[in-house]
Amino acid sequence: MKKVFFKTFGCRTNIYDTQIMIDNLKDFEVTQNEKEADIIVVNSCTVTNGADTGVRSYVNSASKHGAKVIIAGCGAISKGEALFSKNKVFGVFGHSEKEHINALLKSEERFVKMGDLTSLDTSIVHEYTGKTKAFIKIQEGCNFRCSYCIIPFVRGDARSQDEAKILEQIEKLALNGYGEFVLTGTNIGSYGKDKNSSLGRLVQKIGAMRGVRRVRLGSIEPIQIDESFREILKEPWMERHLHIALQHTSQKMLEIMKRRNNVKKDFELFSELSELGYALGTDFITGHPGESEAIWNEAYANFEKFPLTHLHAFTYSKRDGTPSALMSDQIKGDVAKERLKAIEALVEQKNFDFRRNHQHPLEVLIEEQKEGYYVGYDQYYNKVLVKTNRDILKEWITLTTYETKMEANYAQF
Ligand code: SF4
Repeated sequence: MKKVFFKTFGCRTNIYDTQIMIDNLKDFEVTQNEKEADIIVVNSCTVTNGADTGVRSYVNSASKHGAKVIIAGCGAISKGEALFSKNKVFGVFGHSEKEHINALLKSEERFVKMGDLTSLDTSIVHEYTGKTKAFIKIQEGCNFRCSYCIIPFVRGDARSQDEAKILEQIEKLALNGYGEFVLTGTNIGSYGKDKNSSLGRLVQKIGAMRGVRRVRLGSIEPIQIDESFREILKEPWMERHLHIALQHTSQKMLEIMKRRNNVKKDFELFSELSELGYALGTDFITGHPGESEAIWNEAYANFEKFPLTHLHAFTYSKRDGTPSALMSDQIKGDVAKERLKAIEALVEQKNFDFRRNHQHPLEVLIEEQKEGYYVGYDQYYNKVLVKTNRDILKEWITLTTYETKMEANYAQF
């Protein structure tokens, strides 16, 4: 059998998509060693110009091993044809074609199969090799058009996976021993809008299923937290951590970014969730065009007040083909970096304070063993390092005593 190596770039959705491809391979063997591969499938990302460069340089070096290189994922849509015409890749296929991977990889002829941006996967993923938690993609695409973002153009508009299919998938994974489920997608808060349902209603059903111990949600938008979502907030299986994408805390800047959230309402929402005991994370972009000194100062002053514990922040990175890339008042890279560092330091301190002030028993799922510790995450999505003589890999443990240090919580078990 010919050997296939998968190289995955980008976000969690891509990890999921790679798994779908692996599950649909019938006449090939998957290898973890790219050097022995006959075929390399690059599941690419195109979120920034930098991501494109990363994919391009990987494709260049991979083709030198003599393997057939095939590009899939978001970069296939934006850059696939260019790479194909320069003979850098043997084949290109879009998101909607990934379930036909077996036939595509058998092709003796070079191919470009872009497919469409409206379909949804039909495959059910049964297990994630080597992982303790299962990622479930519940929707695809996004109807927002934030000015810096290319994603809607490569993943299409929002469409929700069939509820019965999601529940069936979770049931199977729970039977295979998975207890933690992470719901992902391009914009999961839009789940159900096209199906007369909502994210809250879906999650309520998932939480009620046998074997489901914890439900974690990927990033949601502040304006997507509706009444049905509020109803699940006190459920015991909800992870006590939510990731709500603010992207900025200056109203002026949000308008430039064509965001739909509003700083004042965001602050009220975060305060409400924090009072319910939630650890709160957010996404943030520093240095987007137009982020003047005055705008930044205002944003930072607002940001300081938000009850945040986790941060996924980036400096703005230009993406050709987006409105932001054409804006004239671009911000210097070192200024953006300094701003990024400032908010990262702030949230690091806030996270430490949160952990010191929330000395509740921690429910930890142990995910790996590293440098003499078992490493897992608690219900607040904080890292816990555990020393023990027992083998607790992939186990759920409850810790009543532990030591809180800046970088993580530590415990003996
Ligand atoms: S919400 Fe905005 S940033 Fe997120 S995928 Fe949609 S357009 Fe992009």
